[in-house]
Amino acid sequence: MSVIAATPDAISEAAALLRSGALVAFPTETVYGLGADATNGAAVASIFEAKGRPHFNPLIVHVADISVAHRLAYIPDGAQRIAEAFWPGPVTLVLKRRPDSGLSDLVSAGLDTVALRMPDHPIARSLLVAAGRPLAAPSANRSGHVSPTQAQHVADDLGDKVAMVLDGGATAHGIESTIIDASSERHVMLRSGSVPGLVIEQALGLKLVRSLQAESLKPRASGQLASHYAPRARVRLNVTHGFTEGEAVLAFGPFEAARHRAVSGPFINLSERADLIEAAANLFAALRKLDALGVPSIAVTPIPEQGLGEAINDRLTRAAAPR
Ligand code: AMP
Ligand code: MG
Repeated sequence: MSVIAATPDAISEAAALLRSGALVAFPTETVYGLGADATNGAAVASIFEAKGRPHFNPLIVHVADISVAHRLAYIPDGAQRIAEAFWPGPVTLVLKRRPDSGLSDLVSAGLDTVALRMPDHPIARSLLVAAGRPLAAPSANRSGHVSPTQAQHVADDLGDKVAMVLDGGATAHGIESTIIDASSERHVMLRSGSVPGLVIEQALGLKLVRSLQAESLKPRASGQLASHYAPRARVRLNVTHGFTEGEAVLAFGPFEAARHRAVSGPFINLSERADLIEAAANLFAALRKLDALGVPSIAVTPIPEQGLGEAINDRLTRAAAPR
């Protein structure tokens, strides 16, 4: 990993790294972000791996301008007005994803919405333009550590987990973006942040609903979001034998395909080569696919509780919890 002054050449190099699926940390007006190509599931999975996050939460996707946002999500009138008034800037809009957005499922943690924002930092914006991709970027720190406001903080915290850190000096706000769910006519403030809710209300003459869930949206608890995608099928974990007839199997690792020949239900392997990054990238799409088939239950083979396995197992445990 290298900390590099954000010259035009360095930004081009960073953009190439991002397009190849690598992680690049860059300054925004809030804190340093850990960026990955939001359309590349494995790249997004490696964000969780690098941060050591014990669960998956949906990430904020950064866009170069509002036209990109329109390609990724449906933008109702109210959302359009908020974006026009506050972008670029630290206001994030939660919107319904377009089915052809090309975004990874993991970036939304399996939800049908996506959080978008256009940052107001010259380096972040140049990088977004150069990369030509929307970039997922949570704060560039290990899970549970303090958000980084300087390039060296990122280097100290993430070391070789990040391919490059673009140095743009100290960030201005150090406070996170304000998050508004603007996917419907009702605008819900999911998280307070750099731009006060009142400022948004007064600028646009609209009323924001203060979310009772606001507490549960804080990063530590965000895996508990009530709106998290939950399959209808019953989910059984750590199944190694005794698959039932017609039951779907969600496998991990090389040997399971052979075992499954014994049963007739649908079969998906999250990663035949037992790669946790690949498995994380495939997880939500796999759950949706099996669920769409209408299977009564999904048997999941054991997934090691190490690295990203912890977040994968956390998600599957929630899916398996009685409802
Ligand atoms: P961070 O990137 O760490 O600042 O955290 C992003 C925040 O945005 C988390 O609190 C998420 O729960 C929230 N968020 C991102 N996407 C969505 C979404 N689709 N729906 C609701 N909340 C979201
Ligand atoms: Mg953070």
